[in-house]
Amino acid sequence: MTPREASQAPLEFGGPLGVTAMLLLLPATMFHLLLAARSGPARLLGPPAYLPGLEELWSPRVLLLLFIWLGLQVALYLLPARKVAEGLELKDKNRLRYPINGNHIYDFFLGRELNPRLGSFDFKYFCELRPGLIGWVVINLALLMREAELRGSPSLAMWLVNGFQLLYVGDALWYEESVLTTMDIIHDGFGFMLAFGDLAWVPFTYSLQAQFLLYHPQPLGMPMALLICLIKAIGYYIFRGANSQKNTFRKNPSDPSVAGLETIPTATGRQLLVSGWWGMVRHPNYLGDLIMALAWSLPCGVSHLLPYFYLLYFTALLVHREARDEQQCLRKYGRAWQEYCQRVPYRILPYVY
Ligand code: NDP
Repeated sequence: MTPREASQAPLEFGGPLGVTAMLLLLPATMFHLLLAARSGPARLLGPPAYLPGLEELWSPRVLLLLFIWLGLQVALYLLPARKVAEGLELKDKNRLRYPINGNHIYDFFLGRELNPRLGSFDFKYFCELRPGLIGWVVINLALLMREAELRGSPSLAMWLVNGFQLLYVGDALWYEESVLTTMDIIHDGFGFMLAFGDLAWVPFTYSLQAQFLLYHPQPLGMPMALLICLIKAIGYYIFRGANSQKNTFRKNPSDPSVAGLETIPTATGRQLLVSGWWGMVRHPNYLGDLIMALAWSLPCGVSHLLPYFYLLYFTALLVHREARDEQQCLRKYGRAWQEYCQRVPYRILPYVY
């Protein structure tokens, strides 16, 4: 992207005003959720039941633990015994970028630097999967153990939430290489959005169901638990099937598992899938992800809205992300993308959206 193109690229997330609101709202929402999950009424909407004093928010021991945690993750990331994968060609292959007419708040939020590195240490890639995502399952596990301490054994609902989310994180780590083709790595800079998102928002708000269950135990019978497992399995089947199909196709279109699928040629030389999972809706992986999100909330019962926060937030995030991706694909593929949209008219949910 040349400096002129960079200065003319459409602003995302509502421009400077939108990102200023998000800079304030995201940390505030995270604190609100954590406080609400601990309070008796566990109200998603409305003010939190109590506000902690500053002294409750500051603990040198916790800060030390956080640094030890990050240091451990850095050490593991730097271990020499690892496979090195080739990333895709990035949009900043022209490395000379100049801040023309930049807005500081906007740049701070989205990040100007696409791939900040110190030697071979890639900050964005490191933060995407390791400290926050693994931190999320560590927090979940701590909540499960605390429940066992308080009530003798973890509840069935707590087991399900822990198991489902462990599977999700395990899947992300198992398919770590596929993060190289995501929008976060290819398109978004490393600013507040990804740094706060990966390191704070993910571990603390994604573990909200387990936090809720610790303070608000929920009865869950075996038939309901089995039904929830079935919903999770369906979601995972769609999510993994769609992601693997596209990744295999992008890596090697003549792979026997994808060679028979129907495609549309594009002017870039790349092809678009129009059958298989990607012929059902334009983002089948989002559909699978949302079904799984529902399965993570259901063990918490239906008495409170709070455990469904992730499902609501994630629906909004994926609808917005889908629209951003569509814009980028339209710019990249032009007519071929329009033809794809005609042939596969629904974005995420067949016959609905
Ligand atoms: P996607 O994996 O959905 O990739 C979108 C890209 O796929 C497009 O830009 C295009 O890139 C390619 N593509 C689109 N349609 C086709 C087609 N028909 N045939 C071939 N290629 C196509 O991007 P995301 O990064 O948004 O999502 C990755 C995963 O991460 C998803 O499963 C999502 O649900 C999950 N996710 C989870 C989040 C969480 O917080 N839990 C947050 C965000 C995402 P190109 O043509 O250049 O290859």
